[in-house]
Amino acid sequence: MRFDIISVLPDLLDSPFAHSILQRAQKKGIAEIVVHNLRDYATNKQKSVDDYPYGGGSGMVMSIEPFARCIEALHAERKYDEVIFMSPDGETFNQTIANELSGKGNIMVLCGHYKGIDQRIRDLFVTREISIGDYVLSGGELPAAVLVDAIVRLIPGVLNDETSALSDSFQGELLDAPVYTRPADWRGHKVPDVLLSGHEAKINEWRHDQALIRTQTRRPDLLED
Ligand code: SAH
Repeated sequence: MRFDIISVLPDLLDSPFAHSILQRAQKKGIAEIVVHNLRDYATNKQKSVDDYPYGGGSGMVMSIEPFARCIEALHAERKYDEVIFMSPDGETFNQTIANELSGKGNIMVLCGHYKGIDQRIRDLFVTREISIGDYVLSGGELPAAVLVDAIVRLIPGVLNDETSALSDSFQGELLDAPVYTRPADWRGHKVPDVLLSGHEAKINEWRHDQALIRTQTRRPDLLED
């Protein structure tokens, strides 16, 4: 699976993909993540990628030309399943969307800044608009990193233990159960006996019960669905 992320601050995305599971996925050749510097596609001498908003008002708006040139250059190289714009007014990202997108081949991701991007970019090039939650960040890079991370870890072969993702919260209707590791007794705070019993069926039953209790108390809405 390949991601092409278009950003005016590509350095912001150096670290999120350079460690742990995301790094491993790229080393294994399962995921390719390429970040493009929008400024490389600016046409004016100052290499500017934004301009004043028509109609006045505060904040700058990202211009159509650099985005259009970058998007068209990528379209000329390969076919894209989705061109996603990260935007607070998009559909709210969740595990269902992550699962769906993890089955795609090539995805382009556009990161906005300032007041946003010229509406014509959205109208003409974008196939899907995704928000990572009801709050406003200063740029689309962190949302893009969230999106790519959630998707990549679901691609078969990325996690060492495939079953691990299946018990994660939101993968089914239940939140994940509590987890513990050594020591079994830390200053008198003990790990539940059942987890030390070695009895697999009982452990599974305990985990299921705990997941259910957690879901009922924290997210009863998940059970209603
Ligand atoms: N004026 C816009 C916000 C612009 S914030 C509005 O009110 O809708 C600048 C950029 O940050 C956005 O274009 C988007 O790419 C990104 N961004 C900010 N918050 C986001 C969120 N919750 N989800 C996804 N992208 C977000």
